Amino acid sequence: MAERPYIVGNWKMNGTRAMLSEARAIDRAAQRYMKVEVAVAPPYTLIHAVHKEAEQIGVGAQDCHSGPEGAHTGDINASMVADAGAKFVILGHSERRQDHGETNELINAKIESALEAGLRVILCCGETLETRDAGGAETFVLDQLKSSLGAFQDPAERLTIAYEPIWAIGTGRTATTEDIAAMHTAIRKLLDETFGEEASSMVRILYGGSVKPENATEILNTPEVGGALVGGASLSAESFLGIVVGASETEEA
Ligand code: PEP
Repeated sequence: MAERPYIVGNWKMNGTRAMLSEARAIDRAAQRYMKVEVAVAPPYTLIHAVHKEAEQIGVGAQDCHSGPEGAHTGDINASMVADAGAKFVILGHSERRQDHGETNELINAKIESALEAGLRVILCCGETLETRDAGGAETFVLDQLKSSLGAFQDPAERLTIAYEPIWAIGTGRTATTEDIAAMHTAIRKLLDETFGEEASSMVRILYGGSVKPENATEILNTPEVGGALVGGASLSAESFLGIVVGASETEEA
């Protein structure tokens, strides 16, 4: 694994200021697990407040617009989330792809503008159950990554990939460790071919999909798994920290 295990909470469309106490609790506890890199992506409305609370954890956004300032009612761009305190942005989450029709081309444009604004990027990919059952998961995910990355050539410390099979998100189902290892190994091969082995080794590949304290250690000990992107279980400090503890017990931590 390139660096410390990376555990990222995606709060999705959850959280009012009452959630700041959870962020505070996560931040204080994370100081005891320095071998694990911990971060949360709250909704836009809480980025600045969580950033002000955070001494240890990273704070990021769940999306951003691909363009500069302008007439786009309701949108927020990369430099605006950076200004609010975000250090990274999650792009290409399957819920954005499904709910907002985001294409690989659009995600590629968002990657470029996020990097330009100085943000790190967590690029999500993952197949539907239909695609997996038809035997096309690997081809689909690798194509998704190739098109989303486009001509991007320089991942150094700025790119993280999150493999999230859509059928495992919020369903309580997790992929088997064999399936996770196979997909992560295929993604690593693509990264090696695209960026060269040295640069590729700096890109962590997270797994996401119903990760919880009970399965975290097993998943995080799977070859090529560099951390986890966590939805539901990141909404309470107790369950999220259970995953952080699991990460601190992996061989690489
Ligand atoms: C996610 O949506 O990124 C995710 C992994 O959700 P959950 O952990 O709830 O499956």
